[in-house]
Amino acid sequence: MIQLSGIEKTFSGKRPGETLRVLAGIDLEIAQGEIFGIIGRSGAGKSTLLRTINLLERPTRGRVVVEGVDLTALDPRGLETARRSIGMVFQHFNLLSSRTVLGNVALPLELQGRRRQEILAEVMPLLELVGLADKRDAYPATLSGGQKQRVGIARGLASRPRVLLLDEVTSALDPETTRQILALLADINRRLGLTMVLITHEMAVIRALCDRVAVIEAGRIVEQGDVAELFTTPRHPVTRSFVEAEL
Ligand code: ADP
Ligand code: MG
Repeated sequence: MIQLSGIEKTFSGKRPGETLRVLAGIDLEIAQGEIFGIIGRSGAGKSTLLRTINLLERPTRGRVVVEGVDLTALDPRGLETARRSIGMVFQHFNLLSSRTVLGNVALPLELQGRRRQEILAEVMPLLELVGLADKRDAYPATLSGGQKQRVGIARGLASRPRVLLLDEVTSALDPETTRQILALLADINRRLGLTMVLITHEMAVIRALCDRVAVIEAGRIVEQGDVAELFTTPRHPVTRSFVEAEL
């Protein structure tokens, strides 16, 4: 479903001529329908890596292939269309405060120029799916953190993506709300069969949700495998520290 090969990303540093190498050669294959976790410390390059999957961040080198299409080779029009099959959900929800729940979830479809009736027919089932149909006319300021993230998830699903990218989606939530959101994501994965890529700095999140996991440190994947296997026999010191931190 997703193939990353030889992904490198450098940013220019603060001093003239200085470059920061944030991703230093990432190779990754993610299968259709799986929930793939990427774990790493703060600054390891997780968000940058996730953002290269929909080319919000254009890699300095390497190829991003999603469903057989090389995104790095597309022109802007082609990329805009391809991106509709990739949804994204953020840590801090990124909702528009001036729009209702319905208005936030509808936004990606409005931007595509879809007709109002068509948009309603798409959005209402999504609000049902995340348990917020009765909140359609509420504004974000009146919602709890968990409800806001449910809106974020519904919006991420609005254009019927085949891939959902999740950037620390439970990091701003308390443990009980985290459990509920992770259960919702597992349910969505089962029902819609979409592929999920989730980044986090918490092993508990990986354990609760993911099939496979990659550990990233200083822009490189230092270890990857089945979640159960990685827990019982962590090899790399960074993996061990994540496993121990959770115990
Ligand atoms: P993580 O999500 O694992 O915490 P990030 O991918 O956000 O890490 O960032 C990795 C490194 O890249 C950090 O050192 C960060 O400061 C740097 N970085 C991220 N985005 C930019 C940018 N647009 N310009 C310069 N440096 C950046
Ligand atoms: Mg991040």
